[in-house]
Amino acid sequence: MTPTRLPRRQPTPPRATDAPEPVMERRIIEPISPTAHPWISVLASGSSGNCSVIVWQDDHRTHAALIDLGLSPRRTTRLLASLGLSIDAVSFALLTHLDSDHIHPGWSGPRSPRFPVHLHESHAARASGPARGLDLHAFSDRLTLPGLHADAMLVSHDELGASSFRLRFASGEHLGFATDVGRVTAELIDHLLGVDVLALESNYCPILEHASSRPDFLKRRIMGGSGHLSNEESARAARAIGPREHLILLHLSRECNRPSIALERHAAIDCPVTVSTHAEPTLPIHIRRSPRPPHHPQPVVRVGRQSMLFAHGVRA
Ligand SMILES: [Zn+2]
Repeated sequence: MTPTRLPRRQPTPPRATDAPEPVMERRIIEPISPTAHPWISVLASGSSGNCSVIVWQDDHRTHAALIDLGLSPRRTTRLLASLGLSIDAVSFALLTHLDSDHIHPGWSGPRSPRFPVHLHESHAARASGPARGLDLHAFSDRLTLPGLHADAMLVSHDELGASSFRLRFASGEHLGFATDVGRVTAELIDHLLGVDVLALESNYCPILEHASSRPDFLKRRIMGGSGHLSNEESARAARAIGPREHLILLHLSRECNRPSIALERHAAIDCPVTVSTHAEPTLPIHIRRSPRPPHHPQPVVRVGRQSMLFAHGVRA
């Protein structure tokens, strides 16, 4: 998908009766140079399945890793092939958490591809069901992998939380990845501050969420601070984190969000913005060390015992 920038203008409130809009994208996958920077493509993102691929060089070898396994092995293999990658090139996977849209049961099949799968130790004890048969490795907060360090932080999401990642490549580039974020804390901002490329969820439009036919308990789960980020919360977090080269929006709700609304809410972000979709991979997005000066963080407001950059904006 072509990175999209919108002119800065005042957001217009969406109408709850708006029909889902078609996503206009350019579907030409540009060839990847084997000597290029690390890159990321979001193969698909949303409640029907999440999976991203990152690719980098180390010792003249090309490495690929998946973040989440929420698509079937067959679909993952096909989408990787559309990017010129073989499933055999995947060295490992990182799991953010164990919800079914992040770990597809097909990966437990006896003939599915096998590679190490890393997940937070707090999820490991629950991994027997959805991740049965996988080559699981538990981490606490830091992972050292070939050509790559990953620092993980648990964010509020349902009972067990979800891992957000700051990946630092040996060549010096930084990628931040945070999805299924119940609320944004100062610690999360610190964790991801000033990354070169940031992938961040922008799940719902509060107007469409409130107007939807979803049951109240589900609306409360999504908007209550342990579910997902609204477009507005995502935009405030992204401004505070200050990605220096590129922002990728993840996990848009098909029912309660629109790409155009999410982009409009992120119009003040000072870098290109790409919206991922549930249906097709994004174009490869290069992760380059930014020549731009470091971001200056916003002052942190502390609320009670928990430090918050800003209070959670929506109450069910
Ligand atoms: Zn999810």
